[in-house]
Amino acid sequence: MPFTELQNELNERAAQGLLRQRRTLDSPQSPHITVDGSSYLSFCSNDYLGLANHPQLIAALQQGARQWGVGAGAAHLVSGHSAAHHRLEQALAAFVNKPAALLFSNGYMANLGAVQALIGKSDTVFADKLNHASLNDAMLLSRTEAKRYRHNDMAQLAQLLEQTKTGRKLIITDAVFSMDGDLAPLPELLALCERHDAWLLVDDAHGFGVLGEQGRGSLAHFGVASPRIIYMATLGKAAGVFGAFVAAEQIVIDTLVNHARSYVYTTATPPALAGTVLESLQLIGEGDALREHLRELVAQLRSGLAGLPWKLMASDTAIQPLLIGGNQAALALSEGLRERGIWVAAIRPPTVPQGTARLRITLSAAHSTADVARLIEVLHELAH
Ligand SMILES: *Cc1c(COP(=O)(O)O)cnc(C)c1O
Repeated sequence: MPFTELQNELNERAAQGLLRQRRTLDSPQSPHITVDGSSYLSFCSNDYLGLANHPQLIAALQQGARQWGVGAGAAHLVSGHSAAHHRLEQALAAFVNKPAALLFSNGYMANLGAVQALIGKSDTVFADKLNHASLNDAMLLSRTEAKRYRHNDMAQLAQLLEQTKTGRKLIITDAVFSMDGDLAPLPELLALCERHDAWLLVDDAHGFGVLGEQGRGSLAHFGVASPRIIYMATLGKAAGVFGAFVAAEQIVIDTLVNHARSYVYTTATPPALAGTVLESLQLIGEGDALREHLRELVAQLRSGLAGLPWKLMASDTAIQPLLIGGNQAALALSEGLRERGIWVAAIRPPTVPQGTARLRITLSAAHSTADVARLIEVLHELAH
C-alpha cells in the first residue's frame, strides 16, 4: 500500500525533528491566546498592529455581511466583482502610491499569478535565495529560467543580469524577509533594474502597514518609486484581515486581469472582507502611535536578550528571530517556553536553511512592555 510509504516519510521527518503538527486556538488572535485549553502569551503571529480582533473591524465585517451577504458567489471576471472590491482596490493603489491595484484571494496566489502572467518561457526571473516559498513556487509555475542569487548579494545579481541578453527580466524579492526580518536593499535593486531594463516585484507581506510613513510600506520606507516596481502586499498580516493585492501600472494590472490564472480561475473573496480591509486601511493610516510602540518593543527585546547564549539575528523589524541551529534544540527551547506559558514557534528546514533552526519571535503593537519583559525573563531562565 502506498500508505506505508507515506508513513515512513512522516516517521523520518519526526526522527529529524521536522514533523509539523497543528495546535488549536480556542481564542481570537491576540498576544494572549488559549491553545488546547491553556492560556499563553504569544509571540508568533503576524498581526503586527493588533488589528485582527479590533472592534472597529469586527463591526465593519458585520456591517459588510448585512450589506453584501457572505459569499461573492463567482469569480471577478464573471459576476463576483463588487463595488466593495473596486473601492478597496482604488484605496490600496492610492495608499501605496501606484496607479492601479488588483485584489487577490491571498498572498500565495498573488505571487503565483503575478509572476506567471508577466513572465514566459523565454524570459528570466532573478530571485533572492531567502525569498518566501510562494515566490519560489511562482518561478516554477512560470516555467521560466530562474536564477537565484545569494541573499541580498547585489554583486552576484548584477553579474547574473549582465549574462542575460534576451527576453524580459524580472527580479523578485521579499521586502522584509519573512524568516529573518531584515530588509532587501530596494534602492540598489531598483538601480540594477534601471541599468538592465528589468522589472522588480517587491513582496511586502511584512512591511505593509508597519514600515514607512503612515504604514505605507517598504517603498515609502526607502522613498523609492518607479513604474518598474510591481508591488505586492498581503492583507492578513498587519492589516489584520485576509487577502492580498498587487499594485502597479494600469497596463500591468490589465495584464494580470487577463492572464493571472490564480486571479481568473477562483472565486472572489467575500465583499464584506473588502469593506473590512478598507476600514483597516484607515486604522493603519492613523496608526503612528502603534508603530512607535512596536519600535520601542523591538528595542526593549534586543537589549533584554543581549546576554543570551543564542543570538538575535540582525533585524530592526517586528520579526526578531533567535538563532538556535539544530532542529531538536529549537524544538526543546520552544517546548521550554511553552511549559512556562509562552508561545513561540520553532522554525525549521525546509522553511529555513539546514542548521539555522530558530525561534521566530514576532512582536505586535498589542504587546505591552510587561509582556516583552516576561519573554526576556523566561529566556534568561531557560539559558541557565
Ligand atoms: C505570508 C506571506 C505570503 C503569503 O501571503 P498569504 O496571504 O498568507 O497567502 C507571501 N509572501 C510572504 C513574504 C509572506 O510572508
